[in-house]
Amino acid sequence: MDVRVRFAPSPTGFVHIGSLRTALYNYLSAKQKNGKYILRVEDTDRNRKVEGAIEGMLNAMEWGLVPHDEGVKLVEGQLLDVGDLGPYTQSERLPIYKEYINTLLNNGSAYHCFCSKERIDELREEQKNKGLTPKYDKICLQLSKEEIDTRVKVGEPHVIRLNLPANTDIKFKDIVRGEVVVNTEDLDDQVLMKSDGFPTYHFAVVVDDHLMKISHIIRGEEWLISTPKHIFLYEAFGWEKPEYVHLPNILNADKKKLSKRQGDVAVEDFMKKGYLPEALINYIALVGWSPEDNQEIFTMEELIEKFSLERISKSGGVFDVNKLNWVNAHYIKESTLEKITDMAIPYLVGKGYITKEQATENYEWIKDMVSVFKDRLSFVAEIVDEVNIFLNNDIIIEDNEAIALLNCEHVPKLLRVLGEKIENAEEIDLQFGKKIFKEIQKETGIKGPKLFKPARVVFTGKTHGPDMPLVMKVLGKDNLLARIENAKKYIN
Ligand code: GLU
Repeated sequence: MDVRVRFAPSPTGFVHIGSLRTALYNYLSAKQKNGKYILRVEDTDRNRKVEGAIEGMLNAMEWGLVPHDEGVKLVEGQLLDVGDLGPYTQSERLPIYKEYINTLLNNGSAYHCFCSKERIDELREEQKNKGLTPKYDKICLQLSKEEIDTRVKVGEPHVIRLNLPANTDIKFKDIVRGEVVVNTEDLDDQVLMKSDGFPTYHFAVVVDDHLMKISHIIRGEEWLISTPKHIFLYEAFGWEKPEYVHLPNILNADKKKLSKRQGDVAVEDFMKKGYLPEALINYIALVGWSPEDNQEIFTMEELIEKFSLERISKSGGVFDVNKLNWVNAHYIKESTLEKITDMAIPYLVGKGYITKEQATENYEWIKDMVSVFKDRLSFVAEIVDEVNIFLNNDIIIEDNEAIALLNCEHVPKLLRVLGEKIENAEEIDLQFGKKIFKEIQKETGIKGPKLFKPARVVFTGKTHGPDMPLVMKVLGKDNLLARIENAKKYIN
C-alpha cells in the first residue's frame, strides 16, 4: 500500500504546537515509508475565516521544517496547488461535494432536512430535560420526494443530514487505541451539507481523504468521537477505509489541555522568541511518542528512522517548557556563532541597543558579545536581558556582596595595577585577558577570588557571570578604564 498521509488544518490565525506535532507525525510517517505527505486546507467554516491565516500557517509549517509534498503551497507570496489530486482547499471543491452528496441522497444514506434552528433548539432542550442524548428526530425523513423537490426548488433553506440506522454498532480500529465501538443510538444524524451550500467538516473530510487516496489518518484525539460517523460514510459510499491514529492531547503541567491562557502555545510564539525549529520539533516529537531507548536529542533523520505510530501513547503528554528550553539550549550551543549572532541582531535592533547599520559595521564585535552568552541562552530573545552589561559604563552596583568586595583593603591597589596594564595594552584580546591576571598575581601577590571577584564586579557590576577575558575583549580599553573609574565611587 502506498502511504499517503495528510495534515488538514482549519486556518484560525495561529498554529497551536499540537498542530505542528500532528504535522510532524504525519511527515515522519510518510518519510519513513517513502510515502507522500499532503497539506489540505479545511476552510468550510466560513464564520471562522481569518484573513492571512493560510499564509501564516504555511509559514509556520515551513519554519517548522515539515515540508509537504502535495497540497497548498506558498510560492513567492502566492497560494498555489502542487499535486494532481487538487484543489487542496475545501472551499474550492464545492462541485465535488455536490456530486458526492447526491450519491448519498440517492442511496438513502442522507436526507434533506428543512427544520428551523428554533425547532432543533427546542427539540434538544426537551431531550436534555428528559435526560436523553440530544439528537435530531428524523422528522424530515417522512417527507415525500415531491414535497422535497418543490421545497428545494422554491429555495427553502435546508441542510442535508446523514441517515444513521437505529441501534447499530459502528466499529473501527485505531492503531494506538485498538478497537473502538460506538452504537448509533449515541450518535446524531450529522449535518453533511449546510444551508449555505458548504459541506460540514465531517462530510468534506471523508470525500477528500478518499479522493486524495489517504492511507492513514493521523490527527488529534478530539476527532475520535467523530470517527464513527466517518466510518459510516465510507461504508455508505462503499469505499475502502483508511487506517486511523488519534494522537493524545498535549497537556499543561496541571494535566489540563494546553491552552493559550497558560502561556505560549502557538508555533508563532516560539518563532518570535528565537527558538530553533530543530529544537521545537525534537521536543514535541517526544510529547506523546517515546523511542525504545532513552534518547532525547534527535536529528530529523533519526526521528524519521525511529518514529513509529505503535509507540504513540494513549494518554496525554505534558508540555514542559523547561524541558523544551533545555533542548533548545542544547541546539543553540551546537549552532555556529554566526547563526546565533544573525538571529540575535534583530532583537538587539528591536530593543534599540544597536542600529541595523551598526550591526553590519560592528558585526565582529557583536559576534564577540553574543559569544559571551551563547552557551547560556534558553532562547535567543533572552540575549536582550543579558547584553546590557556591555552597554553602559556607569554601572550601578547594588548587590551588598559586590560592594563589600570592592571595599576590601587590597582593592585600591588592584584597581591601580589593572588600570595601568589596560592603559598600556596594545590590544585587549583574549590572550590579554588571560595574561593580565597571571601578571598581577605575580607582581602583587593578590590571587584567586581576591583577584577575580572584585575585577568582575568592576567590569560587570555582578559577582557572577560570563568568562572574564571574553568580557574584557568585548568591552575594550576605553570602557574598561571608564568602569575602573566608576567602581571607585563605591569605595569608602
Ligand atoms: N480540520 C480539522 C482540524 O483543524 C482536521 C481534522 C482531521 O485531521 O481530520 O483539526
